[in-house]
Amino acid sequence: MLAWQVRSPGSDLSQALRRVPVVVPRPAPGELLVAVDACGVCRTDLHVAAGDLPVHRASVVPGHEVVGHVLELGAGVTGFRPGDRVGVAWLRETCGACRYCRSGAENLCPQSRYTGWDADGGYADCTTVPADFAYALPDGYSVAELAPLLCAGIIGYRALRRAELPPGGRLGIYGFGASAHLTAQVALAQGARVHVLTRSPQAQKLALDLGAASAGGAYDVPPEPLDAAVLFAPVGDLVPVALQALERGGTLAVAGIHLSDIPTLDYERDLFQERTLRSVTSNTREDGRELLSFAAGHRLTVAVNPYPMAQAGIALADLAADRVNGAAVLIA
Ligand SMILES: [Zn+2]
Ligand SMILES: [Zn+2]
Repeated sequence: MLAWQVRSPGSDLSQALRRVPVVVPRPAPGELLVAVDACGVCRTDLHVAAGDLPVHRASVVPGHEVVGHVLELGAGVTGFRPGDRVGVAWLRETCGACRYCRSGAENLCPQSRYTGWDADGGYADCTTVPADFAYALPDGYSVAELAPLLCAGIIGYRALRRAELPPGGRLGIYGFGASAHLTAQVALAQGARVHVLTRSPQAQKLALDLGAASAGGAYDVPPEPLDAAVLFAPVGDLVPVALQALERGGTLAVAGIHLSDIPTLDYERDLFQERTLRSVTSNTREDGRELLSFAAGHRLTVAVNPYPMAQAGIALADLAADRVNGAAVLIA
């Protein structure tokens, strides 16, 4: 089979990845062998390719928004049959025994491993996944529409929860890519007023089309104070900007795995009056099941930018250059 590998992480994306012939992996005990039908292109893949997140495995195959079908079951797997449609997401494995795993916070497990970082992911014809970490997927969506739900959707869903938006509250969304455009729809369905702040005119238009109350530039002041905000853009400069847009007692959640440096905060201006700044670290499987169940009950609009699997490097370069409005998805 063919697989894209991260060979030379760095800012030159045309050199970072190479598509090479490799042996089809064997499913280990407890794993599924999955034929890839579509794989979303996440900003985290860009961070891995660019070296912002050093690879955990030499020549790793990126991709953790995988929609595929089961080809083969590893020893001991029950509950799946060849042909079943499954989703493979970022969280690949946890220890199941530590204090975090036992308390419903498996996203914080120190032993956790990740698809497309610690283990080969979905920029390939086939991949493997521990059956316990594979997701059932909702009906009514194409494989290309399902793919972005698996990270962009799930992480955004967790970030929205971490932002503690009150019912009917005012939500600010900073940056409006794959994750934000799905999260906005979840918030809108829950009755929020959504204000989107992003530099891209196309993304502003998408936000308004999806029902946002306003859309402005990334550094603009929203038209009303915010009860909660989620920062999706990996831009630390926006942290004080978003904190200053919060109402007293409001919360800012930073959704990304990587953020450029945050400038010095001013306690009086940015944090006092009980404004809260929180990070979001991966997700639990429960977050994933909740988001996918939400998507089954509410038809989300997924803005898909399809690319053939052979053009993964182009898709990453387009994402890096802000040429993707919505979600880039590689189609097998
Ligand atoms: Zn654990
Ligand atoms: Zn991701």
